[in-house]
Amino acid sequence: MRVPPNVSAAAYAQALAEFAQAIGGEWVFTSDADLDLYRDAFSPFLNEPEERIASGALAPLSTEQVQQIVRIANKYRIPLYPISTGRNLGYGGSAPAYSGSVVLDLKRMNRILEVAPDEMLARAQTGVTTQALNNAAAAHGLFYPPDPGSQTVSTIGGNVATCAGGLRGLKYGVTRNYVLGLTVALATGEIIRTGGRLWKDVAGYDLTRLITGSEGTLGVITEVTVALLPDPSTSRTGLAYFDTLAQAGRAVAGILAAGVIPATLEFLDRKCMDAVEQYAHLGLHSDAGALLLFGDDGDEVAVARSFERIAAACADSGAITVQTAGDATESEALLTARRCTLPALSRLGSLTILEDASVPRPRLAEMVARIDAIAAQHQVTMATFGHAGDGNLHPTCVLESAEDTEGIARAERAFADVFGTAIELGGTITGEHGVGAAKLPYLGQRLGTEQMALLRRIKTAFDPAGILNPGKLGS
Ligand SMILES: Cc1cc2nc3c(=O)[nH]c(=O)nc-3n(C[C@H](O)[C@H](O)[C@H](O)COP(=O)(O)OP(=O)(O)OC[C@H]3O[C@@H](n4cnc5c(N)ncnc54)[C@H](O)[C@@H]3O)c2cc1C
Repeated sequence: MRVPPNVSAAAYAQALAEFAQAIGGEWVFTSDADLDLYRDAFSPFLNEPEERIASGALAPLSTEQVQQIVRIANKYRIPLYPISTGRNLGYGGSAPAYSGSVVLDLKRMNRILEVAPDEMLARAQTGVTTQALNNAAAAHGLFYPPDPGSQTVSTIGGNVATCAGGLRGLKYGVTRNYVLGLTVALATGEIIRTGGRLWKDVAGYDLTRLITGSEGTLGVITEVTVALLPDPSTSRTGLAYFDTLAQAGRAVAGILAAGVIPATLEFLDRKCMDAVEQYAHLGLHSDAGALLLFGDDGDEVAVARSFERIAAACADSGAITVQTAGDATESEALLTARRCTLPALSRLGSLTILEDASVPRPRLAEMVARIDAIAAQHQVTMATFGHAGDGNLHPTCVLESAEDTEGIARAERAFADVFGTAIELGGTITGEHGVGAAKLPYLGQRLGTEQMALLRRIKTAFDPAGILNPGKLGS
């Protein structure tokens, strides 16, 4: 039996017996074969990856079962790592980042509880996938706007815990803009229901927002109530090629100045375009320095008007060419260029490290140029793509070999400079993926001493024994 750190074998055996009583013995896992499934995705920035195996895993079915688990864990001081599908990209963000933890696997809690069209909201257990939630909303002519690239597999609880963004962030915002209420099991065993069904409610501190994006360190989310919007009748996509990313940046400014807030405004640098072309053979322009993918939705006339203005702004900024999709099939084809960027880059080497930083929108082109200079200085290959509309970039380092420890160390130094540069330009170390364990050392640079101290006091107020996701935010 693997035993969590700082817990005696006898106490752990007693806790396992109590967990089994609470949720049924068949949902308590302790064999190496079962626990191997919960290994954290390999993070080159964390030490001893081979030792990152849990002591146990628990798979509850209801809020009440989660409550019982947390009470037992708190009594025996057992570290609990909630995990939904482990699709997060904050390295070390999913359990078990540290050996000896107990995984709280929330995938079985996957029921959609309600769609209320008259209130334009839906209620779901934490383990419902974002796509399933959206499908349920679509049956009522509604939609849930946040669209992380992982939406077919990642869960609404995981999205809330990381405050996931997505391609529609500029126009529609991110997860936090849609969370109306949460049911949360606190580390001390109480169940709280924050917010609720109301679109307006300012009674007390906004705990819903505090817990959204807290990466599983303040409580275990068991149910989520989200706001929905009417499904737009038309959506269209287009793309523009530019010689330089600076021109693409000017086009973004021009589009917004023309009064258009596109639903999608994404960019790829030349290295990403090459990778995508090699991978998907989409016929992307072979000489352009940057690609801007744009899209909008709404009623047909409004979308047509947006597209005219977007095309004009791109042309005014020196676009080589602007291409718009004629129908939904063509739109999907254009979107593929952006959606397949990560798999395309992954094919270039055997280790791909995708990162996440944000800068104020007007500094985007400057940031990409600085990233290129940093990559050259540290002798690593880095390609950058991201959300041009909200200044959120994903510099991605590709290494030929996952065993290249010197290359990994160079990549780590390069990313440290990338985060430092983002902060220098008025930005942040993560726009949407979260801090996880690997970026915790950089958080102080972003927040400063006073906020870091406040974060720790908040963590202690919610989780005095420090049993939820130790080693992450608030540690
Ligand atoms: C291909 C791909 C594309 C992606 N695209 C995007 C994108 O466009 N935008 C974006 O923002 N992200 C993106 N991501 C990241 C990922 O989609 C999000 O981080 C997602 O929200 C993770 O959901 P999950 O269910 O897998 O959560 P997990 O990875 O299981 O958990 C994430 C974190 O939340 C905690 N947690 C999970 N569930 C709960 C709960 N119920 N209560 C408390 N804590 C909990 C965990 O402890 C962990 O710290 C992408 C990931 C992939 C693999």
